[in-house]
Amino acid sequence: MSASDVRPAVPEWLHAPADANELVAAIWPPAAARTADGVLTVGGVLATDLAEQFGTPLYVLDQDAVVAQARRVREAFDAATARHGTTARVYYAGKAFLSTEVVRWVTGEGLAVDVATGGELAVALAGGADPARIGLHGNNKSRLELARAVELGVGSVIVDSLVEIDRLAEIAAARGAVQPVLVRVNSGVHAETHDFLATAHEDQKFGFALTDAERVVARIRELPSLRFLGMHCHIGSQIFGTAGFAESASRLVEVHARLLAGGEVPLMNLGGGFGIAYTSVDDPTDIEELADGIVDAVARECGARGIPLPALAFEPGRSIVGRAGVTIYEVGTTKPVRVSDELERLYVSVDGGMSDNARPALYGASYSARVASRTSEAAPTLARVVGRHCESGDIVVDAEYLPGDVTPGDLLAVPATGAYCFSLASNYNYVPRPPVVAVSNGEARVIVRGETIDDLLTRDAGIPTEGAE
Ligand SMILES: *Cc1c(COP(=O)(O)O)cnc(C)c1O
Repeated sequence: MSASDVRPAVPEWLHAPADANELVAAIWPPAAARTADGVLTVGGVLATDLAEQFGTPLYVLDQDAVVAQARRVREAFDAATARHGTTARVYYAGKAFLSTEVVRWVTGEGLAVDVATGGELAVALAGGADPARIGLHGNNKSRLELARAVELGVGSVIVDSLVEIDRLAEIAAARGAVQPVLVRVNSGVHAETHDFLATAHEDQKFGFALTDAERVVARIRELPSLRFLGMHCHIGSQIFGTAGFAESASRLVEVHARLLAGGEVPLMNLGGGFGIAYTSVDDPTDIEELADGIVDAVARECGARGIPLPALAFEPGRSIVGRAGVTIYEVGTTKPVRVSDELERLYVSVDGGMSDNARPALYGASYSARVASRTSEAAPTLARVVGRHCESGDIVVDAEYLPGDVTPGDLLAVPATGAYCFSLASNYNYVPRPPVVAVSNGEARVIVRGETIDDLLTRDAGIPTEGAE
């Protein structure tokens, strides 16, 4: 069964808008607008100029939006923790979108950086991140990655298995180092957008069962080359509301209190997962409300047990960069398709697709879209924006109302593509990955260069290189 078989033909929440040119504020970068001529501008730069100068498809990242959001999130957690006499460290979860520029922007706002591989670590370092303010994640970090982390003095390694604990202890001991670690645990709380599910057992690859935490921490405390900092828990992604976080935090505090009997536990890391709006139906919780709700829950649970509040850490990714990104495509073909007696939809093919945005194909993720190069008075029509790849599941926007006269040559902009699009991009069908352009104050500059066909061919060992025998 393909993804489209299980979806309703039109999502229940989607309604024909009065104006299919409108930029629904929460989905777009805060400063996105249209000129008097109707052209979309991001960071003060015309979409038409961006397309002309850099080509399409194009990832556009509003620098000021990333910087402002990084600051807002840090301030929200600073304020929430200060009220309870403790502190928060906010790690930017680099897997959402990592480049040296973005590392500079977020570290400039006082954020630390989370990485999950040697490659992400290399980018964070190249962007000037302080190793002492880097967290290294992953359920299967290589010996080389662990050794590099120890050698650099990475501030925390989040350990994920007993095998890894012994491996890391040995590596640190051999270097005469003491490596600070957090223990990843599963609180049994899974949260997804509006709901959360709480279970006692989990069937997934990350972390330790909360019930094993005491035994695992006891093991770490026996190892002189490791220093136990606290527990780490990440309950999911694209979460709205505080209930799931609060439930998870309360389960963690209970174990945290028991761990205090065996030594100090200075830290608790509650992960990321704060949701953003992708379509007009999404109504994410303000970060200030989330921060207060989560920190209050931890404080309440600690208070009830008469234990001090630890320093807290958080790891937002999507909520820092998601809304700052817009992808610009050019429409290549349009085709009305009769879906049933009652329903016809316009298929709008663009020059990118699942290679630059895998999320619809991977998770059935919803997006929205607008014609970027002009406005139109034409009546809104139900459309599906699809890519150019050889998969019927190559969908960019499953369902959206676009002006009925959308036509080849129009530019189409898909908002909220700052997170998990560039980072999940592929070369499927030998399509070169698009460049990333940062916009700010009417200026645009490339922060990650686009690939060329030549870039792709250089990896093929069967192609004779010039000058070779
Ligand atoms: C992916 C991830 C994050 C970031 O999640 P967002 O939904 O982007 O905020 C944080 N922590 C861990 C451990 C993760 O795996």
